[in-house]
Amino acid sequence: MTTVRTTRTVAAASMGLGCLLAMGVGSAGATSTIASLAPSTYSAQTGILAGKTIGIDPGHNGANGSHPSIISRKVWDGREYKACNTTGTSTNAGYSESRFNYKVAQYLATYLRSQGARVVMTRATNTGVGPCINRRAAIINAAHANVAISIHADGAPSRGRGFAILEPVASGTNNKVIKGSIRWGSVLRRSLLTNTEMPTSTYDGVNGIKFRRDLGALNLTKVPTVLLETGNMRNSRDARLLTSRTFQKRLALAIDRAIIKYLKG
Ligand SMILES: [Zn+2]
Repeated sequence: MTTVRTTRTVAAASMGLGCLLAMGVGSAGATSTIASLAPSTYSAQTGILAGKTIGIDPGHNGANGSHPSIISRKVWDGREYKACNTTGTSTNAGYSESRFNYKVAQYLATYLRSQGARVVMTRATNTGVGPCINRRAAIINAAHANVAISIHADGAPSRGRGFAILEPVASGTNNKVIKGSIRWGSVLRRSLLTNTEMPTSTYDGVNGIKFRRDLGALNLTKVPTVLLETGNMRNSRDARLLTSRTFQKRLALAIDRAIIKYLKG
């Protein structure tokens, strides 16, 4: 019963994305297919993001857990000193958040590059340690990204599910990009609801949006950014989605579509 329901949900979401792509996002450029990575309906619009720089911050890192002294070092988060980085969470079956974040970041980077964007990532593998939260913000700021996203998944009590988009509150450093970040979050929220089967969070924020004053990625940014908690890894329904390659690609596409919409209107 569960299987049938899941299959139908996936098919419906897939049709939704197909419709969106069939309608086209913008009209310029030839198309090329990334068959190896994307769902069968995906075709990239070559060049639509030419001249744009996108910052991608896949949260945590695969070897953080085995280097506690490095990641517990205190750094400035824009309001106070806190740990350089954390280990992140995992599903009950042991699929790590850092791996999920990295996989989605890889898919997203591939889509964006195929559309002509320059992509700047805060880490290049899932086997390293860090970088610290302040360094991650600095990498994206130095690249003068047009827009950025931190990709995460949550580890909350198992009953809760769904995504929350965490948005910045003025810290001084980020004052000029608060408005842009709010608009970016709103566009992203709509795309996630249209193009993925993940609902808004049942336990965090309001309608999938939450303002946060305690996150370095948001306090230290000089470019419009949000932090996406994609779902709850401790919830069995969310965990099934988060660990599925199909969902990871669909999520990356939903973020990609949102970036195009945010930058191109
Ligand atoms: Zn995280």
